[in-house]
Amino acid sequence: MTKKTTSAPPLHVKTPLIESLTMGQPVEPTIWLKLESAQPCGSFKARGVGHACQHYVSKGATHLLASSAGNAGLAVAYCGRKLGIPVTVVVPVTAKPCAIKLIEQEGASVVIKGNEWDGAHAHAQTLLKSGWAYIHPFDDPLLWHGHASLIDEIANDGLQPDGIIVSVGGGGLLCGLVEGIRQQSWPDIPLLAVETMGADSLYRAQQQGGPITLEKITSIATSLGARRVANKSFELLSDYPIETHRVSDQQALNACRQFLTDQRQLVEPACGAALAAVYDKARFLNGKKNVLVVVCGGVGVSIEQLEIWQQQLDS
Ligand SMILES: *Cc1c(COP(=O)(O)O)cnc(C)c1O
Repeated sequence: MTKKTTSAPPLHVKTPLIESLTMGQPVEPTIWLKLESAQPCGSFKARGVGHACQHYVSKGATHLLASSAGNAGLAVAYCGRKLGIPVTVVVPVTAKPCAIKLIEQEGASVVIKGNEWDGAHAHAQTLLKSGWAYIHPFDDPLLWHGHASLIDEIANDGLQPDGIIVSVGGGGLLCGLVEGIRQQSWPDIPLLAVETMGADSLYRAQQQGGPITLEKITSIATSLGARRVANKSFELLSDYPIETHRVSDQQALNACRQFLTDQRQLVEPACGAALAAVYDKARFLNGKKNVLVVVCGGVGVSIEQLEIWQQQLDS
């Protein structure tokens, strides 16, 4: 199969793939870490967002618009700077000043409007003008196609895992991994789709047998806080071997701390959720030989913030 390529070089980088002895189980499986935390804007978002931005700009877009104070907004801001295109990022009123600062540092204009992501997303639609492209944080096939490059890289590094562990917000990354696996013509490698309780929109959709909208996000893992998953993520539940898995905020936070010690890398609880599945020995690991963990990363974290979250969970 010929691969679709854009002529310009990608805006993401090839990330390290390393084996973790500390996270590996005594016998099997071997745990492989794909360090998306090493992307220029701190998360895998650079892949999909980069591809989508390049596509829209090649089609004549003159302005990029995003609606997230998190890693997606930052990635769009980064890509706009790299492409020399102005960017507007609508962030909800709950956005942290440090998140806004990071986006502004990339040269993007920030508009503060709306409650939570949904409000910011709705407001962004009202700003769209001719020549502007809206970059959705998870629900766009262009995004999934960019995320799929992660699988190309591990294939090039000679790894075909027999299980992949991935955090799920809206499921854009999940959709991209499935696309990448199918592009390789690999067998359907089972995926463990991990969410935190309180951000478990995929798990609940599976329980209900249809996409549902969570009333509210109550998890500290705000990067997983899509109240409703992309329809495609839901469809994949019946079209691909995906096991949904939930961890508590405390498990995700503990995993962040343990990972800091083990790998000397600081990641968001959104990423800690996937790591917790390994640390807490999810059943998914049983009988597998090589499990890939997507270390999705995230910039919304600091040593101080880990403490603040812990106090929040204790109170
Ligand atoms: C966006 C994001 C997620 C969730 O990705 P989806 O594509 O929405 O499922 C998980 N972790 C981090 C760090 C993110 O930035």
